[in-house]
Amino acid sequence: MKIILMGPPGSGKGTQASFVASLVQVNSMSSGDLFRENLANDTELGKLAKTYMDQGKYVPDDVTINMVMSWIEDSENNGGFILDGFPRTLSQAQALDDRLNGVGGIDKVILFNVPELELIKRLSGRILCRKCQTPYHKEFSPPTNDGACDKCGGDLFQRDDDSEVVVKERLKVYRQETDPVVERYRGIGNILEIDGSLPIRVVEKSLRTALG
Ligand code: ADP
Ligand code: ADP
Ligand code: ZN
Repeated sequence: MKIILMGPPGSGKGTQASFVASLVQVNSMSSGDLFRENLANDTELGKLAKTYMDQGKYVPDDVTINMVMSWIEDSENNGGFILDGFPRTLSQAQALDDRLNGVGGIDKVILFNVPELELIKRLSGRILCRKCQTPYHKEFSPPTNDGACDKCGGDLFQRDDDSEVVVKERLKVYRQETDPVVERYRGIGNILEIDGSLPIRVVEKSLRTALG
């Protein structure tokens, strides 16, 4: 199974990635998480990515494509994968198609539709585990113990790029760069659209149904 999770910032991709991974028994990868891991480890890639992430811009295609392709090299041996947040540009989608040409291509693209006002509420209250990057929300999905991750006990922090100014820019970039990718998959006809504005458990149910 090769699955892509798409949707604007805050639509619930990260939250649902681990659920989908447990359903279909393959590994999941978030390009944003990989950039943040590089940042935490102070790598050259991390330093470069930060200059774009801080402004709410996309990291250049060549860098992003290389990073994701090397992840795919490793995980394809498991028979599939879930990509959270890649591809976000037409060039990235083309690179992925070229890479999967001959091995069956993408099986399903899942798009989380959420109205903009709801996205802003979610991003302004999002907190993230510093160790395993599990997302929580102060109000909608709080951790059991204040300030600590349910899964690994790591401490929780707010992302710098979840500030109001940067969120506005990220939503704009999504409309410009990623809406055309959604249209491309709509044209191919392998996209499943989910109402991502419903509560987390209800979204899980829709995913379970959609993935059979
Ligand atoms: P979101 O919660 O907005 O979906 P992510 O955590 O997935 O954010 O990504 C954080 C940042 O990492 C993005 O704003 C962008 O700068 C960079 N990034 C992540 N994925 C990509 C990608 N596929 N192409 C370019 N930049 C990316
Ligand atoms: P993305 O990876 O698409 O940027 P996240 O999964 O990080 O989005 O979710 C953004 C924020 O919204 C997080 O704080 C998360 O806890 C919360 N959230 C995710 N799904 C839902 C939902 N269905 N209802 C309410 N809040 C949600
Ligand atoms: Zn954790």
